[in-house]
Amino acid sequence: MPEKLRVGVLGATGAVGQRFVELLAGHPWFDLTLLTASSVSAGKRYGDACRWHLSADMPPGVADMVVQDTLPGGDCQIVFSALPGERAGEVEEAYAAAGYGVFSNASAHRQDADVPLLIPEVNPEHLALLETQRAGRAWQRGFIVTNPNCTAVMLTMALAPLHAAFGLRAVLVTTMQSLSGAGYPGVPSMDALDNVIPFIGGEEEKVAAEPRKMLGRLNGGAIEQADFLVSAHCNRVSTREGHLETVSIVLAQKATPRQAIEAWRAWNPLPQQLKLPTAPRPPIVVRTEPDRPQTRVDRDAGRGMAVTVGRVRACEVLDLKFVVLGHNTIRGAAGASVLNAELMLAQGLLRA
Ligand code: NAP
Repeated sequence: MPEKLRVGVLGATGAVGQRFVELLAGHPWFDLTLLTASSVSAGKRYGDACRWHLSADMPPGVADMVVQDTLPGGDCQIVFSALPGERAGEVEEAYAAAGYGVFSNASAHRQDADVPLLIPEVNPEHLALLETQRAGRAWQRGFIVTNPNCTAVMLTMALAPLHAAFGLRAVLVTTMQSLSGAGYPGVPSMDALDNVIPFIGGEEEKVAAEPRKMLGRLNGGAIEQADFLVSAHCNRVSTREGHLETVSIVLAQKATPRQAIEAWRAWNPLPQQLKLPTAPRPPIVVRTEPDRPQTRVDRDAGRGMAVTVGRVRACEVLDLKFVVLGHNTIRGAAGASVLNAELMLAQGLLRA
């Protein structure tokens, strides 16, 4: 890569924004030149505006950058959006209309028919939707690409090789989602400690809908949703990072646990073939111990970008059941978005 692409982070002071800063500072292909947040933070040094809560230190040089207002006009070519969902819709469109490539974590545009909902390992061909998007919205250079909900991404990665090999008919998933999934400061400690909260607003609907779009087929410039149903129970538990999910599935062609494991182990999708900087190798880690994956022990697999599966067994009611785990602010958010941008750059769809 001869010249680095200048990139910005919208909502840089939040839980996901901080992950972006961590992943982008020192990135081999990207140069972090812009940080934005709300008007409360704008004008302050990043080091003063942001209450840094990652284990690694704030990257050198970032603390002295001045946080800008979240308005198109900053010095960069693409922006990574970690804005709250209710703010993201309008702001991301304004950036795209102004010529910026927008890689969004927010839910606002995920289900737009002309917006790719992308996991580079799963549906890289969906980037062809950008032609429909540009034509329909009359955007010259700008665009919006989204990454999935932090729970849907782990589930969809685990399902993708099984869907390709055996065909999915139905998916039943129960989640145990960490506190950082609610942003910072998130769930009040008096609600979270010694407790499980069996409700996360809007989450079950996203987990039911997003895998079907991502595993859907591109047909004539539109996505045909995959033909299976997902039923989700989403729970907030008192872990800090990492979403653990127990999954039971019905398959069109019956498979044994061993065949499912073989399908996961044989998976070698495009980002791994292209050796993209943020792509984990392997993308799916299969654990064979009876009590893995576990949230604290396995969430950092592949620097937080790999998905870990385990406890694969025959299901007494459906066909197969297993456990899947991933890091919600890395693979479930900032890392997913950075990988989307790496894929587009590697495919010549972004120019420095
Ligand atoms: P968060 O910790 O609450 O951070 C929100 C960020 O947006 C902060 O930088 C905040 O700046 C900024 N902001 C708030 N209101 C704004 C406004 N009116 N204009 C401009 N900036 C504004 O939230 P988060 O957890 O990082 O989530 C960010 C987005 O990612 C959300 O859409 C969320 O659904 C999505 N997401 C989160 C996760 C996760 O695991 N947390 C995973 C996947 C996707 P100030 O500091 O100045 O208030």
